[in-house]
Amino acid sequence: MEKTVVIIGAGIAGLSAGCYARMNGYKTTIVEMHDKPGGLCTAWTRKGYTFDGCIHWLIGSRPGNDPMRQGWEELGAVQGKMMIDHDVFMVIEDKDGKCFTVFENADLLEKEMMRIAPKDAKAIKGFIEDIKKISEMPSGPPERKPGDKTPGFFESAAGFIGFMPLLLKFIQYGAMDIKRLVKRFKDPFLSFAIAQIFGGMEEFSSLGLMFTLGNMHKRNAAYPIGGSLEFIRPIEERFKGLGGEIMYNSPVENIITGDGMATGVLLKNGTVVKADTVVSAADGHATIYTMLEGKYRDKSIDSIYSTFKRFPSIVQVSMGVVMDLAGEPQSINFPLAKPISAGKLTDDRMSLRVYSFDKTFAPQGCTALTTYLGGDYEYWTNLKAVDKKKYEEEKKRIGSEVVDAVDKKYPGFKERVQVVDVATPATYVEYTGNWMGSFEGWLLTPGIMLKKIPRTLPGLKNFHMIGQWVAPGGGLPTGLMTGKDVIKTLCKEDGKEFRAEKP
Ligand SMILES: Cc1cc2nc3c(=O)[nH]c(=O)nc-3n(C[C@H](O)[C@H](O)[C@H](O)COP(=O)(O)OP(=O)(O)OC[C@H]3O[C@@H](n4cnc5c(N)ncnc54)[C@H](O)[C@@H]3O)c2cc1C
Repeated sequence: MEKTVVIIGAGIAGLSAGCYARMNGYKTTIVEMHDKPGGLCTAWTRKGYTFDGCIHWLIGSRPGNDPMRQGWEELGAVQGKMMIDHDVFMVIEDKDGKCFTVFENADLLEKEMMRIAPKDAKAIKGFIEDIKKISEMPSGPPERKPGDKTPGFFESAAGFIGFMPLLLKFIQYGAMDIKRLVKRFKDPFLSFAIAQIFGGMEEFSSLGLMFTLGNMHKRNAAYPIGGSLEFIRPIEERFKGLGGEIMYNSPVENIITGDGMATGVLLKNGTVVKADTVVSAADGHATIYTMLEGKYRDKSIDSIYSTFKRFPSIVQVSMGVVMDLAGEPQSINFPLAKPISAGKLTDDRMSLRVYSFDKTFAPQGCTALTTYLGGDYEYWTNLKAVDKKKYEEEKKRIGSEVVDAVDKKYPGFKERVQVVDVATPATYVEYTGNWMGSFEGWLLTPGIMLKKIPRTLPGLKNFHMIGQWVAPGGGLPTGLMTGKDVIKTLCKEDGKEFRAEKP
């Protein structure tokens, strides 16, 4: 008889685990609280416009033998999918109108950096050489063998041992945050602009930045036309086609345990779904401290959840405008004449994403745009809980301040805006359950890179965790990898050879 697996969450991690579970003969049910798949990897439509909540770049987009690409093909996610490799990743402006264009091609990027800061020639040359070296790395660690222990920094680095001396670069950049990296450049604008590529998150490990630029250089970080939800749909179809079952509108209240084993889940509507194995692909904090009531944890787990830094929450403002913005860079980062504040946070710059490159997002002659502002979690969630009317008014105010700012960039914008949509940290919590509205799990800092996050819990058998809360840095690739890894582990425990196949 087929063994049974229940997976909590139909985000990328849950769907990936579901597909591999079915490929290996496990009777699999995914229980998802929302009415659609995707979790954070989603999009929504308003008045004929599509607003995207996730994919800027997809690591593993380039056809070839790269492990990530192979994984996406196994999930049926990329076959026949139109992808755009942008020439320009973003344009960063300063208050005097000086511009730095972040080209995806490293040679063009070098020329641009030299134009801005010729005195930094030596540092620029080294930076570009390293981007090219890192671009030779595979886009994911070599496949883990069934049952391999959770990799930490050194195990992951050792996975690249065949790529010496890239391994040294992996260690060098892994241990350096972006703040230290940009100090290499004496030119203040260049130094500032490089930090802006990752939204000014200076604590982030510079390996993440170099790895992304390396993948862009080799055309392996494209944007899939149709956006995030259209990227997820074929994976959902693949899971169902393999015989998997998804239960939507099914929030999990508790993970059922007995005799130190997980035996199923209890849904909020009272339904019990029994299984031989429970896999949580949902928020890590809620899994450990709510669904399992904090019964299966130790000091190291408490320390992770009390000391590790998270990606913050955000406010996403999305706009649909009757304006053809073709030819504009896909992303522009510029200073605001009037800073925008909400709660304790103030933004004095804006990163505006102009979706004219995806014609599926807006009617002809129109354009969808999005931007993110800092999201004060306490402020927005309290406001929503105590004063829904004020919460809605605040959303409106933020939306109109953003429109005013964009109007300065594109005169006439304000009169032609047809729709403004504002998602707050409270929205992220409501729709994805992510802790404190975090948009990508654990921030990949040099300190966190050296630590291991367990994927099982002390004293609890037949239970596993996957997704962005067990793989610092988050992102779609970690969903794919951790989802695949857990099924390899189950196969090993059951004495089966792990199988992966393409549709
Ligand atoms: C603005 C933004 C831009 C991004 N850009 C990129 C990018 O360019 N490239 C990239 O690779 N990544 C990007 N990411 C990150 C990426 O979206 C996430 O890291 C990834 O989607 C996380 O997947 P996950 O499956 O681990 O978690 P989630 O997507 O959070 O999925 C968890 C699922 O569990 C469900 N769930 C939670 N609690 C329960 C419960 N009690 N019962 C039932 N179901 C439950 C949720 O509804 C959700 O569907 C971006 C994210 C954001 C927000």
